Amino acid sequence: MHDIVDLRSDTLTLPTPAMREAMAGAEVGDDVWEEDPTVKRLESMAAGRLGKDAGLLVTSGTQGNLVSVVAQTRAGQEIVLDADCHIFNYEVGGAAVVGNVQTRPIKTTRGFLTPAQVREAIRPANIHLAVTGLVCIENTHNRHGGTCCTPEEIAAVAEVARAAGVPVHLDGARLFNAAVALGRPASDFTRHVDSVTFCLSKGLGAPIGSLVCGSADLVARARRVRKMLGGGMRQAGVIAAAGIVALETMVDRLAEDHRNARMLADAVAKMPGLSVDLASVQTNIVIFRVERPGDPPGSEEATRALVAGCAARKVRVHSIGPTAIRCVTHKDVDADDIACAIEALGEITAGWKA
Ligand SMILES: *Cc1c(COP(=O)(O)O)cnc(C)c1O
Repeated sequence: MHDIVDLRSDTLTLPTPAMREAMAGAEVGDDVWEEDPTVKRLESMAAGRLGKDAGLLVTSGTQGNLVSVVAQTRAGQEIVLDADCHIFNYEVGGAAVVGNVQTRPIKTTRGFLTPAQVREAIRPANIHLAVTGLVCIENTHNRHGGTCCTPEEIAAVAEVARAAGVPVHLDGARLFNAAVALGRPASDFTRHVDSVTFCLSKGLGAPIGSLVCGSADLVARARRVRKMLGGGMRQAGVIAAAGIVALETMVDRLAEDHRNARMLADAVAKMPGLSVDLASVQTNIVIFRVERPGDPPGSEEATRALVAGCAARKVRVHSIGPTAIRCVTHKDVDADDIACAIEALGEITAGWKA
């Protein structure tokens, strides 16, 4: 039970006492010289979890994705991705600005490219056309509400890409949420991709950092790009130490966040003026629509009233569109907090009956 129930994002999680202790006592060195033992330990632990040869600590998920794109493409190439994905929507156009690649966003129904869509999107050899340099997938899918694709779906897409000689990048910012939700080892999701990024600083609760994992060759190239982007950190073991605690102790408990999200979604689904696609609530994200009876369609007013009404009741939620609100559960929100959030939403919407 917390004073404020903050459901805006799982990036708001605070480091645990064990993380702070590990950070204080971390053995460190200069990581640009590859002499930080704690960073090395985290990188090999992450690579091991994902069944890859090597790992690279980066400052953020955004940097991990950018490093992965730049390390695997050349200027003027095209990257194929889902139109709702994070790389295309929320990474400041970095692939275009830094990577000099053009993006080929494809509309999907669940956020996941199908093998047929990938086959169709990969450009044939033709003097008029950009060369397809990379296929990107995202799991769990942020904008689609934390939905998961299966290892088999990833394998099928990767097979099409591989047949065309195109590498595959997995934006797995919340990959461990997918692994826990589907009850599969994380390495099942990464076996068929060339590079993968995951975040330590979201549901896993570490203060800073993400990892890029892949072959030794990919990681060596990624390391150079990271340096170019200003991501070569020195005694980064201070950060890595918290990441080790996150990987060792914070993965299995994600199931609790998923249960809390389910509890919230089930309650929201019954409230007047709110609707939620319950099938999309597979992990720790709940996106719901706000349509107050009597309001003109598309009106933002009820969404604003809901965000403000929640804030007045010490519950923070985040609007992601004129009629959409996103709630994210995480380790700093417990079942009692979810009950508070449900109560707040219930009070606000109680008067909405048409
Ligand atoms: C959060 C997120 C990122 C970026 O991570 P940052 O650490 O915030 O830069 C990338 N992809 C997805 C799907 C995310 O949810």
